[in-house]
Amino acid sequence: MEEEIKKLNFLEEIIEDDLKSGKHKSILTRFPPEPNGYLHLGHAKSLCINFGLAQKYGGKTNLRYDDTNPTKEDTEYVDAIKEDIKWLGFQWAEERYASDYFDQLYEWAEDLIKRGLAYVDDETQEEISLHRGTVDKPGTESRYRNRTPEENLKIFREMKEGKYADGEKVLRAKIDMAHPNMMFRDPILYRIKHASHHRTGDKWCIYPMYDYTHGQCDSIENITHSICTLEFDVHRPLYDWFIETLGIFPSHQYEFARLNLTYTLMSKRKLLELVQKGLVAGWDDPRMPTLCGVRRRGYTPEALKAFCEKIGVTKHDQLMDIQLLEWCVRQDLNARSNRYMVVSDDPIKVTLTNYPEGQVEWFDCPLNPADPEGASRKVPFSRNLLIDRADFMEDAPHKYFRLKPDGEVRLKYTYIIKCDEIIKDETGKVVELKCSYDPSTRPGNGEWRSVKGTIHWVSTEHAKAIEVRNYDRLFTLADMSQVPEDKDYKDFLNPESLVIVKGLAEPALLNDNSGIAVQFERVGYYKKDPDSTPDLAVFNKTTALKDSFKVE
Ligand code: ATP
Ligand code: MG
Repeated sequence: MEEEIKKLNFLEEIIEDDLKSGKHKSILTRFPPEPNGYLHLGHAKSLCINFGLAQKYGGKTNLRYDDTNPTKEDTEYVDAIKEDIKWLGFQWAEERYASDYFDQLYEWAEDLIKRGLAYVDDETQEEISLHRGTVDKPGTESRYRNRTPEENLKIFREMKEGKYADGEKVLRAKIDMAHPNMMFRDPILYRIKHASHHRTGDKWCIYPMYDYTHGQCDSIENITHSICTLEFDVHRPLYDWFIETLGIFPSHQYEFARLNLTYTLMSKRKLLELVQKGLVAGWDDPRMPTLCGVRRRGYTPEALKAFCEKIGVTKHDQLMDIQLLEWCVRQDLNARSNRYMVVSDDPIKVTLTNYPEGQVEWFDCPLNPADPEGASRKVPFSRNLLIDRADFMEDAPHKYFRLKPDGEVRLKYTYIIKCDEIIKDETGKVVELKCSYDPSTRPGNGEWRSVKGTIHWVSTEHAKAIEVRNYDRLFTLADMSQVPEDKDYKDFLNPESLVIVKGLAEPALLNDNSGIAVQFERVGYYKKDPDSTPDLAVFNKTTALKDSFKVE
């Protein structure tokens, strides 16, 4: 095989330089989710980058929950996030929480106040944003900006003691209200929130803001490379300012392009809305782009990692084609999944008129054709069979190689049959095909006669009824960042994103315990759903068998 020489991505270049120059002896990255929702495919990219770089360069990755907003966060999310990361196959070095550092962050805030670098502001939220100015216009200083450090310290302590109501006061850094980077116009460090926190309970009623928290947490943990998405690029100077001003470990922030996928939304806020409004069945609805959703649908960690590898790490935003992800899923499942024959709803009966009544032959069929010597399953064959309606055509064009009047086709793994007679009901619908089979065409008979078409089938008396949930894209708009202003993203929900049908399966399907999606031969990949009962197995469509998508 041709050896592929891969160029380093920009993060790998930076890390190799840092290791070579001795700036760092080893690297430590972190994955910093806010526990306010479930992880999605975008997070998978961030996970692959953070854990992938650490693995490649012999470093480690911390899992750090960014839990500074008690009203939106919950332990349900904390637990789900860990489960998803483990499912992807990553193991974090330390499990940390921003809230572990609330005492330290508070101490640093007092330090800034004492040094005249922070003040308590009584202006309302509206006044503060109004006075911030614009990119071209400097802001105006708050009338509370020149309180003395003593006064600030006293009020800040009272804020902490719970003397004030939510929104009554905030703590701000005292930097520069005319700074060209708006982030420096006296950013808010703390706000009052009388809310119980999922870890610290009622200990705090003031909570630190993202910008005041993130860099310092990185620094406390000695994170060497703090990797985040591009929109944080304007925050970086402020990240550095806190670290320099406090004189603490110099963590550095690097930004990469977030993952955007066609027909997909990846904002936790909107995904939460879909769940809360009952527009999907839950965070793990197989149509959701969440990791628990795609897991239930049958996507594999291997496929997600291969996808992240393919899209690489860049510095410009891009809309990726979801078909590339589906292609990766197919590649993985094609190599590994077990095969079974399933005929869909509304099949056509095939009666083999020259096959002995009551006779059953059990064919030994490979579970995966790529591995013909590997495990097999037994498939029963009899006089009464069912085929997909789509595999028969009465007025077939010349090049139609499935079943047609007087035409021949091979029933997969078994004999060649010929269609002799069509039976219709009173509405003219084809209900049965009387066919004859050619016993000499039994595979292994020595004499191989070939026909152009092969179709799948099941034996009527052995077939097991299953429920098949066919999924399509959740949204109809390819670029969900382009929802017109007079519309809502929910206007683009696809009403046909879930179609439930019955299927008739060869019996071995019900004993499959591979744990991954299986292939319904000639149709697609399907993953058994936890909604299955002993009486009815339920299968989720993972992806179709093929499409026209080409990978460059
Ligand atoms: P959302 O906007 O969906 O709520 P978020 O950025 O607020 O996402 P966090 O829990 O804060 O979610 O994210 C944890 C990490 O995952 C961050 O480093 C963030 O940059 C990264 N991340 C989030 N969304 C994406 C994405 N679409 N592509 C790549 N990385 C992402
Ligand atoms: Mg966030």
